Amino acid sequence: DVLLEVKDLSAKVAETGEEILRGVTLTIKEGETHAIMGKNGSGKSTFTKVLVGHPSYEVTGGTATFRGQDLFAMEPEERARAGLFLSFQSPIEVPGVSNTDFLRMMCNERRKARGEPELDPLEFYGFLTPKLDQLNMDPSFLARNVNEGFSGGEKKRNEILQLAVMESEMSILDEIDSGLDVDALRDVAAAVNVLKDGDKGLLLITHYQRLLDAIHPDFVHVMQKGKIVQTGDVSIARKLEEGGFEALAA
Ligand code: ADP
Ligand code: MG
Ligand code: MG
Repeated sequence: DVLLEVKDLSAKVAETGEEILRGVTLTIKEGETHAIMGKNGSGKSTFTKVLVGHPSYEVTGGTATFRGQDLFAMEPEERARAGLFLSFQSPIEVPGVSNTDFLRMMCNERRKARGEPELDPLEFYGFLTPKLDQLNMDPSFLARNVNEGFSGGEKKRNEILQLAVMESEMSILDEIDSGLDVDALRDVAAAVNVLKDGDKGLLLITHYQRLLDAIHPDFVHVMQKGKIVQTGDVSIARKLEEGGFEALAA
């Protein structure tokens, strides 16, 4: 089944009217992992933010559906509850709120939307423990305040834990690999691979081939000036790594 179907999407910055997306077309089916690469400023983050309904942007044309539902007719919260979830490129710190409480709140929002009963703290602990194991994360993480004093790698792992807790049908990870050293990158890639199982859809935004080598996306797209200009398999990422974006034109 198709999860996300975007056709000829264009969007501008609400405040300035500057056109950023200029006809993006992309279809993601259940169980598929897609990656979008592209130079800085090509519109990758804008694309993800438009999908989740960020108020800074205005859709000027095209369509987007999630499981057949018109995405742009839904409030941003409804989109998240329907199972479309964007990780945060710069995760926020939430002083005074423990990671467990924050995760349980997110989890219960999703459960409410699915008509499932909320989990109390003890039930949530039972739900979370196997996920921590799967993601190879230290339980001491949970008692700490959300992102407070986390290292770059810990913040990224926490984002992935959030996605795992949400059990989103479709997760979007924007530059989950930025600023990570090789060891942290390996851990993050392993955690992303945990999210890949089953019929979930995954959309990764990255500048680098390294992450893609560890994750093996089904499709790689290249975005340029607000459009997807090329789609293929991981070999696109290798060409980019070797010759830069110019190499793709040849
Ligand atoms: P990428 O993620 O590919 O690096 P972005 O989507 O962040 O690119 O940005 C694409 C272009 O749109 C950039 O030129 C950026 O400055 C501009 N842009 C994005 N969001 C805004 C905004 N809220 N206000 C003004 N310009 C923006
Ligand atoms: Mg960027
Ligand atoms: Mg970006």
